[in-house]
Amino acid sequence: MINAFDSFIQKLKPQLISWRRELHQQPELGFLEYQTTYKIGKELEKLGFSIHIGKDAVKSKSRYGVPPKHELQRAETQALDNGVPQEWMDLMKGGHTGLAATWDTKKEGPHLAFRFDIDALPILEASDSDHQPYADKFSSKLEGLMHACGHDGHASIGLGLAHLTAHFKEQLSGKFTFLFQPAEEGGRGAKAMTDLGWLEDVDQFYSGHIGINSLPVGTIAAVTKGFLASSKLNVTFSGQSSHAGMKPEDGRNALLAAATTATQLHAIPRHSEGVSRVNVGKLVAGAGRNIIADSGYLEIETRGESKPINSFMQQEAKRIIQSSASMYDVSVDIEFVGETETITCDDSLIPMIQEHCQHSSWINHIHPVANVSGSEDASFMMNAVQAHGGQATYMLFGTHLPSNHHSPAFDFDEEVLPVALAAYAHVLRGGNTQ
Ligand SMILES: [Zn+2]
Repeated sequence: MINAFDSFIQKLKPQLISWRRELHQQPELGFLEYQTTYKIGKELEKLGFSIHIGKDAVKSKSRYGVPPKHELQRAETQALDNGVPQEWMDLMKGGHTGLAATWDTKKEGPHLAFRFDIDALPILEASDSDHQPYADKFSSKLEGLMHACGHDGHASIGLGLAHLTAHFKEQLSGKFTFLFQPAEEGGRGAKAMTDLGWLEDVDQFYSGHIGINSLPVGTIAAVTKGFLASSKLNVTFSGQSSHAGMKPEDGRNALLAAATTATQLHAIPRHSEGVSRVNVGKLVAGAGRNIIADSGYLEIETRGESKPINSFMQQEAKRIIQSSASMYDVSVDIEFVGETETITCDDSLIPMIQEHCQHSSWINHIHPVANVSGSEDASFMMNAVQAHGGQATYMLFGTHLPSNHHSPAFDFDEEVLPVALAAYAHVLRGGNTQ
C-alpha cells in the first residue's frame, strides 16, 4: 500500500496545487468562510462522505469573536452571488462556517480524526514580481484579505486526504472524521467544533502546519513542543467628548486611557516559571484634533507557556486595563474573543509516524520533535481526545519560507502539499492497522 499511496499522491499533485490556488484567490476571514466551506463540502459529498455543516458542525455559543452582523451579511450576499446554494446558506448563515465530514468503513477499527483550518487574514497581499502568487497570477482577488498562513494549503491537503480515503476505502477499516475548521486565527473556531462532541470517541487525532519553522521540503516533524496558551481580548473605553480648547475639563479622555493601557501592558513583569507574551496589535481612538476623545479601542493578546502563566498575564492585563480606565474616569468593556490551550503531543505516536512515513518516497527526513512558539486552537481538540485516553499530535511540514507567517509576502513551496498529504496518508495507514 506504501507505493500505491505514493503514486496516487503523484497523480493528485496537480489537483492539490490547483485547489490551493483557487482557495488562495478567494480568502475568507474566520466565520465568513462560506465559499470555502461550500467548495470543500461539494467535493466531499461527491466522494461519498457524510457532510455536517452549520450548527451540526460548530456549536453556536462556543464560537469566539463572531464578526458583526453587517460583515456577516456582506459575506453572505457575496457567497450567494458567487454560487453558494441557498440551502447551504440557510444552514451556515450567521457565521456557522466550517464542516465536519465522516467516513465509516463499517469494518472494525480505530476512529481517526484529521483537522484542517481554512481561514485567511486581513492582510493586503504583496504585489512584487518575486512574490510567486502575484507572478503566477493567483494572488488574492479580494483587496485586504489574504491567505498569509498557509491555510489554503491545509484545506487543499485535507481534500487530497479525503480523495485518498475514498479511493482506498476497500483496504481501510474503522472510522474517519475530517474537520475543516473555521476561524483558527485568533483561537476562535476549534472550541466550537470540540464542544459539539466531534472528538468524543476519537482514538487518534492528527493536525499540523505547513512552514512555521523554515525546513527543507521533504522534512516533517512527528510532534511539536512549545505551543503557548493564549487569550485574546477586545477592549473598549468610553469617555466624554468635549471642546479641547474651551472646555477640556469637561471631557473624559478615552484615548489616554487606551494609550496608557498599551504602554503599561508591556510593563507586566515576566514570569519566573516560563515563557510569556503580551501584545497590543491594534489601537483606534478619538474623532479629531480639537475634540477630547470619547472612544478608545484595543485588540490585545496574552500568551503563556502554561495555563497558569497565561492566566497570570491575563489577570495582570485586566488589572492594568481597569486601572487605566479609573485613572481617566472612563468606563471600559472587556470582551473575551478567543483562546488557545497548551498542547502536549503524545510522544508515543513518534515511532508509529517514523515507521510508516519513512518508506514514503515523498518524505526524506523525519524530525521526532520540532520546537515552535506560536499558539494553536487545535489544542482544544487534542486535549478533548487525550482526556478520554486517545492520542493526538500536531505535525510540521517543512517548506522554505520567503517571508514570515502573517506578512504580505508570505508564501510556501507548493511541493510541500504532496509531502504533507503523504505524511497524513501514511499515518492514516499506520493508525488504521494498529
Ligand atoms: Zn496558521
